Amino acid sequence: MRAGIALAVIALFAACGATRTPQVRETSAELPSRTFVSVQRLADKLDLDYLGEADGFIEMSTAPDYVMLVRDSRNAVVNGERVAMGQPCLRRGSDYVVSAGDAELVTSKLSSLRSGRKPVEAIPLTIAPAPSHPSGLPAEWQPRSGARMRDWQAIVIHHAAMPSGDAGTIHKVHLANPGWDGLGYHFVVGNGTQSGDGEVEVGFRWREQREGAHARARKGDDNRWNLHSIGICLVGDFTTVAPSQRQVDSLVRLVRALMDEYGIPAEAVVPHSFVHATECPGARFPWGQFMSRLR
Ligand SMILES: [Zn+2]
Repeated sequence: MRAGIALAVIALFAACGATRTPQVRETSAELPSRTFVSVQRLADKLDLDYLGEADGFIEMSTAPDYVMLVRDSRNAVVNGERVAMGQPCLRRGSDYVVSAGDAELVTSKLSSLRSGRKPVEAIPLTIAPAPSHPSGLPAEWQPRSGARMRDWQAIVIHHAAMPSGDAGTIHKVHLANPGWDGLGYHFVVGNGTQSGDGEVEVGFRWREQREGAHARARKGDDNRWNLHSIGICLVGDFTTVAPSQRQVDSLVRLVRALMDEYGIPAEAVVPHSFVHATECPGARFPWGQFMSRLR
């Protein structure tokens, strides 16, 4: 009898790293924070494709869902929403790991976003012929001469959900998405970290008048928002910090020029969250101030 108890105690110590425990318990998950989960296994569990690491960002995604982890950081981004983890994402061998508790946090955030996703409603877009007149946009924002104009009918505003970066950084992240060919937005407005504060960078999709890859409502839909809306992304994470005044000023100038050029009404300037179950562009984005300056 005594030998049996001693064996059980030894087995328990071995199982939880020789931590002193006041009594023998039957539960196996005593110290969840010490248990780590491989990020690749987490991706499998979430039914996402594991895309590996690039520039410190570890990503798993299957459109429209994604989880982005940052090496040695507690910040995770789930479909544009930030999740503050208890412990950083660490490298272990050729893999990355997060604590079991943090894996649970990410899992429940993604499942709540998935279950809250509404089916696409009737969207107020009508298919109009492409304008044939030459662009009246300021020279730096004009499409490549000779590019076939699209019938732009809406403008979708995003944040990058990253505190720093520029069009090049986002381009790299988007290149890692299966089926994407790089920067999904048409324009990127910098925040002074890797491009100028308020600087407008023009993406290849705009120069070539190509459809966007920023506003899919859900897998298998008719992709109308990507086909007919202009995607503008502001660098920053506006779940925690507001955009700079210069960013908002530049955005107002850009959006007004696009509205004038394509006859887009203010009602068709929408946050990403209008199209898809996401918090993008973040609660700190001054939507009211922005819209009042457009009208
Ligand atoms: Zn967005």
